[in-house]
Amino acid sequence: MTEFYRPTKAVISLDAIKKNLTAFQEKSGRSSVIAVVKADAYGHGMLAVSKTLIENGVQLLAVATPDEALYLRNQEIRAEILVLGATPASFIAVAQRRNIIVTAISLEWLSMAEKQLVEELDSLKIHLKIDTGMRRIGVQTDEVEEALDFIADHDFSFKGIFTHFATADEQDSSLFDQQVKALNSVLDKLDDSSVMVHVSNSAAAIMHPELACDAVRVGISLYGIAPSPYVEQAMDFKLHPALSLETEIIHVKKVKAGETLSYGATYRVEQDQWVATLPIGYADGMLRGLQGQEVLVAGQRVPIIGRICMDQCMIRLSKKLPVGEKVQLIGKQGKREIFIDEWARKLETIPYEIPCILTKRVPRVYS
Ligand code: PLP
Repeated sequence: MTEFYRPTKAVISLDAIKKNLTAFQEKSGRSSVIAVVKADAYGHGMLAVSKTLIENGVQLLAVATPDEALYLRNQEIRAEILVLGATPASFIAVAQRRNIIVTAISLEWLSMAEKQLVEELDSLKIHLKIDTGMRRIGVQTDEVEEALDFIADHDFSFKGIFTHFATADEQDSSLFDQQVKALNSVLDKLDDSSVMVHVSNSAAAIMHPELACDAVRVGISLYGIAPSPYVEQAMDFKLHPALSLETEIIHVKKVKAGETLSYGATYRVEQDQWVATLPIGYADGMLRGLQGQEVLVAGQRVPIIGRICMDQCMIRLSKKLPVGEKVQLIGKQGKREIFIDEWARKLETIPYEIPCILTKRVPRVYS
């Protein structure tokens, strides 16, 4: 275990992740849960999270890149792993050797992959991605027959078929409905019941349980975060936020009326004021746009004042507090709580971005 001397850390509750998984397992009935652990499990730490998910029944982990899949295999993760994104020619034999499922993203990809197959190894496991409206990757709906024929004619191990929704988290369901229609036209052409069908991200799994197919493919909500405010208000079960971010006061001083603080001297103190310094800055993911965001200290909300520096920032105190006083940046302190959504609103972004922007310098500690 690496030692950490700076008090800034992200505390990840594996129990919260387990509870969220159980909620999806119960909601999805006979369908299984594919756990999306890409991007270091949305910043929560891919290895610890994957182990917890596997211990609690997950059989298939989804990552975005070949390198993420290899990382898990190199850490002795034996569950099935699916790479959701594109894989290059150089990875095909590796995928065969290391038992990694890859995504067929186009007809062109299929023909490229076929040329790379190594006969002596186990067949390459593939899931076929269908582009029903996201227009990112996937075979077009009118190419599906050709793709299925190509797969049948070559030595692939055809394990799954999937699509991805662009607007499942939004109230306007017009594109979602079109995607479902396109999907159904594709599934009508599929006569192999051993091929796993999975289409639902968190939002679709929550809002459209009738679409669960063989598996739901859940990411953000496993970590206790609702995909959007629209989904959050419609949910019939509770999510448990898994990530909290905490630090401690490292310095306290009284700043005199009229003095300024931090870079650019943009923040002027109106009257004598206690100011504390925190050891967290934009190099940790506490972006400069979070100036003014509140933190919890001694059970109260107080704002970050002045410009956020690379490694430190300052907060306003209503009274003198000691060095070492705990500060909660995200999560609960006493009766109060700061949710990831609040940071997302402040940064005018979506909650997905927040755990992903916390950099490697912030240790992930598991509770
Ligand atoms: N499937 C694919 C192809 C994705 O790209 C993602 C996330 O971006 C997911 C599933 C999981 O989506 P969510 O995190 O909204 O549950």
